Amino acid sequence: MGSMSLRFRNTLGGELQPFQPLEAGKVGLYTCGPTVYAPAHVGNFRSFVFADLLRRYLQWSGYSVTWVLNITDVDDKLIRRAAAEGLGITELADRYAERFREDMRLLGIGPPDVMPRATAHIDEMVALIRQLLERGHAYRTDDGSVFFSIDSWPAYGRLARLDPEQQRVGERVEADEYAKDDVRDFALWKGPKPGEPSWSTAIGEGRPGWHIECSAMSMKYLGASLDLHTGGIDLVFPHHEDEMAQSEAATGQRFVSVWMHCAHLRMGGQKMAKRTGNLALPEDVYAEGVPPRVLRYALLSTHYRTGPDFTEASLATAASSVERLSTVLLALDAYREEREDDLSLTPLLEEAHQAFRSHMDDDLNIAPALGAVFDLVRELNRRLADRGLSTADAARAADALRDLDRVLGVAEDRATPEVDAAVQHLLDLRVAARNERDWARSDALRAELAELGVTVEDTADGQRWRRSTEPVHG
Ligand SMILES: [Zn+2]
Repeated sequence: MGSMSLRFRNTLGGELQPFQPLEAGKVGLYTCGPTVYAPAHVGNFRSFVFADLLRRYLQWSGYSVTWVLNITDVDDKLIRRAAAEGLGITELADRYAERFREDMRLLGIGPPDVMPRATAHIDEMVALIRQLLERGHAYRTDDGSVFFSIDSWPAYGRLARLDPEQQRVGERVEADEYAKDDVRDFALWKGPKPGEPSWSTAIGEGRPGWHIECSAMSMKYLGASLDLHTGGIDLVFPHHEDEMAQSEAATGQRFVSVWMHCAHLRMGGQKMAKRTGNLALPEDVYAEGVPPRVLRYALLSTHYRTGPDFTEASLATAASSVERLSTVLLALDAYREEREDDLSLTPLLEEAHQAFRSHMDDDLNIAPALGAVFDLVRELNRRLADRGLSTADAARAADALRDLDRVLGVAEDRATPEVDAAVQHLLDLRVAARNERDWARSDALRAELAELGVTVEDTADGQRWRRSTEPVHG
């Protein structure tokens, strides 16, 4: 069961609050997903890695989590891009949705329980818009559009803490493009236009606005009230402000208990290498020899509400941290020593577990939580070097570290990946060659394995191997 002291900072109100799920032991988590008109870049993935860290931590804490991450597959940018490439919107969306799934898999994100696509939920959006029309929170315009009436909803602006007199900035629809009653009002439904996709529905022909998509999909899968809603800080306004207004106006219930937003990465400028530039893609980073798990570590190792610098130095730090964690796991697995158990090990493991938990309970305070993990790694390395552990101790310590890595998902772990038969055969041949002291053959086999992406090392405890390009497991 979940910890009693778990607390999150709620963007709504800005306070640190004890986390109380609506239903004991269960959590509904909604994350605003990508608009699939182009590949998502590293900055986008920071917010998905954050949502995944939150999801993993909740599960590790004993909650049963339902995680919904949507795919926006119809919007202005996507329509323009599809037209420019001479593709249908579905074709373009399929291409980048597939790419997004693959990027998530490599980064150890999810998979989410549900990945709903907007165009498969037009009926739910229309039902919501009809409710808003009936309740007097929305109105139609001559071109077949429907707008949310901000004047009808005095609570508008609570999430972003807007000055009521403030004009809307960053609205997607140009003020002069549609005839709105109030410049602040936002489109729930956009009337049909030549050359744009549209649906024939009970509220007429047209297509949905962006914000209504997330209200319809989150409430369909998680209910009218949900526990957690995450996204990048840029989504607070107008997207989440609008989602909250239209959802609560339609249902009369509180939409979300806790809103959590993560800060932007501070990316390198034009002069930086491609892999740390403003629009770096994960594949640009991997192409320069950074494994996915190292990128994941770099994205999650700073508190989600602060913007980490994404630089060569932060990638180097991430690489050495992942290496330390992976190496101690390999060493613990290979370790054999006939001796009495180390009685101080159990308290050491428990202390690390408790420290990790108490920091993560504090609004996912990741930096000191990682500090607790690496304090433990340092202690274990010392005991391994002193041969102060028994074989059973080493196995217990490896289990404890793997348990913490269920939350982090960064360790390279040879226990997890499946070995194909060809690789296993070469590994076995190499062990045999070494037993026969045939060093030339052993070196030749090492080179052959390297060509298959498998790195072999020889240690006091025998041959160890790992893959250099494995996706993150866990
Ligand atoms: Zn959204």
